[in-house]
Amino acid sequence: MARRFSNLITSENPNPMYGGSRNGVGIDRIVIHHNATTNKNVAMSTWYTSSGNWTSAHYEVTPTEIIGCVEETYAAYHCGGTGGSDVPKMSNPNERSIGIENLNSTGAPSWSVDSRTVANTAKLVRDICDYYGIPCDRQHVLAHNEVTATACPGGLDVDEVVRLASGGSASTPTQKPVAPAPKPAASNIPSGFTPENGTFVNGDTQIMNRVGAPSTSAQQGGYLPAYGEWPYDSWAKVGNYTWIHHMWGNKHIFLPVREWPSGNAWGAFK
Ligand SMILES: [Zn+2]
Repeated sequence: MARRFSNLITSENPNPMYGGSRNGVGIDRIVIHHNATTNKNVAMSTWYTSSGNWTSAHYEVTPTEIIGCVEETYAAYHCGGTGGSDVPKMSNPNERSIGIENLNSTGAPSWSVDSRTVANTAKLVRDICDYYGIPCDRQHVLAHNEVTATACPGGLDVDEVVRLASGGSASTPTQKPVAPAPKPAASNIPSGFTPENGTFVNGDTQIMNRVGAPSTSAQQGGYLPAYGEWPYDSWAKVGNYTWIHHMWGNKHIFLPVREWPSGNAWGAFK
């Protein structure tokens, strides 16, 4: 029986956020994320149903807070993938899991997370594992990038989270092996686009994406919010813009990320 929130929360965020039914699927995984921002309010605002962003998480963790966001009773939209070739590596990823987001202490490229935040997340992981009877190990406590194609959770070391959660002491930082990027499905790459897997992290201005063609006159898909993340499988310069591409279901989605000839990219790539 799922509960609303862990007793460890320091507050609840009262804003309506994306959530859905768990469809009877039992909770047996925890998925760890980083915010890709050093501003917790910016992070949480992208999960509001008013954002149009269709993402959310159960908890936001900072050096001093564990904030309840989406109740555990519901599935949050945090590890379902972006569609197309980005197929989650486990079934029912959102229905079976609890998603924990962590505030960054630094931005790109390191995307570090404060050791106090890591310790708070470890406490929360322990509590969730105990409540639901989930083994506190690396088969059940996963990094976002172990479920779908993403650079999340940045500089956050999930091995360390599990070590702390299972009673170990903090270790000295070690170099974490980088998982090889999944190969894009060649058939999904639009002609003229260069295959490359990555994630675009938006700057401070929302960007409209386009459906079907890399053109500002193509159908509008929706806004990528400020500081939002957008995984891509390929890119090309078309017209006055550099465009990145990913599949959403069977639709080709294009996002302009730089205008030519002037200026820099509107965000960061990782
Ligand atoms: Zn994530």
